[in-house]
Formats: sequence, structure tokens, C-alpha cells
Amino acid sequence: MGVEFEQRNVSAAGFRLARRVCPAILLAVAFSWSALSRPVFAELGAGNRPASPTAKTTARDAFPPELTVRVYNYAHIDSGLLSRSEDVATAIFEDVGVRVTWLDCPLSPELLGAYPACQSHAGAADLALRILPRNMAGKLAMPDEPLGFAYPCPEDEPACVLNIFYYRVDELAADGYRADRLLAYAIAHEVAHALIGPGHSEEGIMRGQWSSRDLERICWGLPPHFTGNQPAALRSAVLRRMKLVQRFAEGGG
Ligand SMILES: [Zn+2]
Repeated sequence: MGVEFEQRNVSAAGFRLARRVCPAILLAVAFSWSALSRPVFAELGAGNRPASPTAKTTARDAFPPELTVRVYNYAHIDSGLLSRSEDVATAIFEDVGVRVTWLDCPLSPELLGAYPACQSHAGAADLALRILPRNMAGKLAMPDEPLGFAYPCPEDEPACVLNIFYYRVDELAADGYRADRLLAYAIAHEVAHALIGPGHSEEGIMRGQWSSRDLERICWGLPPHFTGNQPAALRSAVLRRMKLVQRFAEGGG
């Protein structure tokens, strides 16, 4: 069912260390080293996206596996932060040969008219990402307050839902970690669960529990990666979904 994405092994010492090393003034130094259901509509509040959708696509190949993620920002996080997170997540998937297009979609059906891309039919290669505030996450929260979870996603099911509990990201950000990068990696983790299943790995993005060291590396721009057969599995999963979409478009059911 849901998959945990826990921080239980992040020690207090780890947090103190992060507070010392993570501030932006040190980031330049770090960079120099390496250079449930369908989305539920809710009232649109302040801080939401502008009245036109954004769709960012990065392609390395002419016809790479392509995934579309429809983003529902129920937590009303800053549009700049969300955009940066999408860029980081785009790069994470680009590294494994999967192109991601992000559609920032409205939270109210009355506003769909201003988001024409979000009105398009969702197919098997579309996912729905819900970024949830505490009050919404509380209704779904898994034990140990995970950062998020993804339901199992059958390959022929359109717009499978991923959930990110943004207040947990925010709590880590208050301890000195970069919210934009943490959000990006949390999204990547849950997207991967949707595509290749609930399993975790000993290292990398798909660790079941990120250590303080993992969090620091993410913060510094020295990210963990998908490991082992995960890159190939991700590409294959997206390609199978794209073929289903194509078959459907050709009337093959
Ligand atoms: Zn997980």
C-alpha cells in the first residue's frame, strides 16, 4: 500500500550539523566542489500559481520516455520554490533518461479554463502530484509522519496520485535544509514508487530512510541517485505506459 519515506534515523546531531553547514553562505563552497483517489478540488487561496499554466520539459533524446506530472499545490507553497523543485526533479529524471513535463494545475474546477493543458485527457503516462499542507496530510498521514507516499499505480491507470506532506519538508527546512531540493527528491522518490513499485534500496534516492548525511548531500547539491536497476526500470515503466497511451489513441483499447 503506501510506502514510508521516513526520517526516523535522522539524529538530533545530524540536524545540528546541518544547521551549521547548510546556510547559503556555504552552499557556494559546496557547489564549487562538484559544481488515493483523483485530485480533490479545494478552494484556491493566496499564493497559488498565476493564471496561466507552466509546462517545463527537458529532453536529452529525440524520443525519450516521457512522463507528465500534474501538480496540485494544496500547500500553497511559493511558486518560485515549486518551480525550482520541478527543475531539480526534472534533472533527476533526465539523468536516468526520462523526460518529465510538469503541469501546474488549479485547485478549483472554476479555474480550469485558465489552465487549458490541465483540461486534457489524462493517460497512463500522467501522474497527479498533490502537495499537501498539514491539515490535509493529517487525514492521510501514515505512521511516523512520512514525507509522502504513493499508492500502487497499475500501468493502465491514468493519473495515479502521489502525495507529498509539505509540512514535513518545511520542518526540515527550519532545521537548515533546502526546501526546494528536499521537495524535489521527495517527489522523485514517490514518482519512482508509482512507476516501479514499493521497494527500497540500501542507498540513493530510494532509501527507505534518508540519513542526515543523505539530507546534507541533497542540501549541498551532491545528490544521491537512483541506483542498481532503478534507472532501467523507470525507463521501461514509462515506455510501457506510453505504449498503452498510443494504443488507446489508435483505438486499441
Ligand atoms: Zn519509499
